[in-house]
Amino acid sequence: MGRIIGIDLGTTNSCVSVLEAGEPVVIHNQEGGRTTPSMVSWNADGDVVVGAASKRQMVTNPTRTVFGVKRLIGRKVTDPEVAALTDTLPYRVVPARNGDAWVEVDGVARSAQEISAHIVAKMKRVAEDYLGEAIHEAVITVPAYFDDVQRQATKDAGAIAGLTVRAILNEPTAAALAYGMQHAHDQRVAVFDLGGGTFDISILAIENGVFEVLATAGDTMLGGDDFDRALIDLLCDDFLVQHQVDLRTDAVALQRLKEAAERAKIELSSAMTTDVNLPFIAVGAGGPVHLMRELSRGELERAARLLLDRLDEPCAKAMDLAHVMPAEIDQVLLVGGMTRMPAVQERVVQIFGRQPSKGVNPDEIVAMGAAVHSGILGGELQEVVLLDVTPHAMGIRVAGDRMSVVIPANTSIPTRERKVFATTEDNQSFVAIEVYQGAHESTTKNRRLGRFVLGDLKPLPRGQVRVEVSFTMDADGILQVDATEQATGKATSVTIEAASGLTGDELARLSAGMARR
Ligand code: AMP
Repeated sequence: MGRIIGIDLGTTNSCVSVLEAGEPVVIHNQEGGRTTPSMVSWNADGDVVVGAASKRQMVTNPTRTVFGVKRLIGRKVTDPEVAALTDTLPYRVVPARNGDAWVEVDGVARSAQEISAHIVAKMKRVAEDYLGEAIHEAVITVPAYFDDVQRQATKDAGAIAGLTVRAILNEPTAAALAYGMQHAHDQRVAVFDLGGGTFDISILAIENGVFEVLATAGDTMLGGDDFDRALIDLLCDDFLVQHQVDLRTDAVALQRLKEAAERAKIELSSAMTTDVNLPFIAVGAGGPVHLMRELSRGELERAARLLLDRLDEPCAKAMDLAHVMPAEIDQVLLVGGMTRMPAVQERVVQIFGRQPSKGVNPDEIVAMGAAVHSGILGGELQEVVLLDVTPHAMGIRVAGDRMSVVIPANTSIPTRERKVFATTEDNQSFVAIEVYQGAHESTTKNRRLGRFVLGDLKPLPRGQVRVEVSFTMDADGILQVDATEQATGKATSVTIEAASGLTGDELARLSAGMARR
């Protein structure tokens, strides 16, 4: 059996790790970096460039350079969060035939799965170069808050890149796995993960080698990109007042601003002030104009105040669901590059009443945890057991488009839950079971996962035919739904395979294309 690699497929950067002699090792990429920018561009000849090389040419090639595709994967263009995001991107986001958010480059619409697959393929090559052998299997991490469609889409990205994805692992869980391997005593750990695009908070109990996720919460639309955008807005607003030029309307200027804003944000984590110098950023009435100004840490923090405030609620929710008080948490692990911002760390201290753990590399720990999980799957690490939870409620649609929850959010998996429903019409001959995932009371706001029918019901007045619906979810999060007419025992069942939005043919064509590269 070949090796299984662990890939942290990040919004901003990705990282790959492998287990060597029972220890997770982070692998350097061909450019010497331990992480690789999650960027993909197409040059004028139509060739694909991935990683650091893509990042380097972003300013000169903004409309053909795709970053942050993780924020689009498995989502629709009509999703309000995606719609808000697309206005700010230098590249074009277009609807696919099923409404999925795809990216158009040089007139060719490409799925987020395909673009992510280029990043996965790069990480696969990095591992293959290091190990000197072909790799066919991987564990890929995703934010705990990804729903089934986003997970399946990520799995498809792995398949297009030529990998069998053995597991999709939650990022905070991965971080706790890697940490718990090094600090083996029993403890309660909060993993605070603020990356480029998403915020996740998970609370875990580690006991006798069993890693149990007690609760997870988060915000899939809060991350470093939003902090960059807050700074860009500040710079653009000032520039407009000073020079009467709106930089937001110029894709190249915006791209330069984005780079400068991110650089300034990172510098302000260690310095109190920094300079933003963007000569010839625009042409005003009187000729070329330059953006040159000092930025202070205080200005960044004020611009980011609302974003920082959004960290509080998911933490409170996770602690509430886990039935723990801040004082009962032994360690707070910081994961994701944004946790280097001092104001974020101060917020962590405010929320948990303790200093976060030192000695954890926030950029690498998730990939290392993915490698640990691959060791569990491959049988190399037999003394470790992982118990995860389902982050979203699952249920069925009942009268009035209401969601009747069968498996509540944060239920430990594997699990089996059942609920009994009655017919709503006289002589009703069948019931249609529509399965949904999400937190809203109305199914119209949740994700529809599938539908099946239980027919030939006994003709009886409404309310008298009872149908038991049971949801069984295995440790990989695969859901099976059974419906049984209680009086007759007539039953039907379906395994819900979340569709990522790509057809089997599309997947086959894309993976064949990638294999030829
Ligand atoms: P990740 O997705 O975990 O790679 O996180 C990347 C995000 O962290 C990006 O938005 C980076 O700009 C941000 N980041 C990286 N280093 C720092 C730093 N020293 N201070 C503030 N933000 C940082």
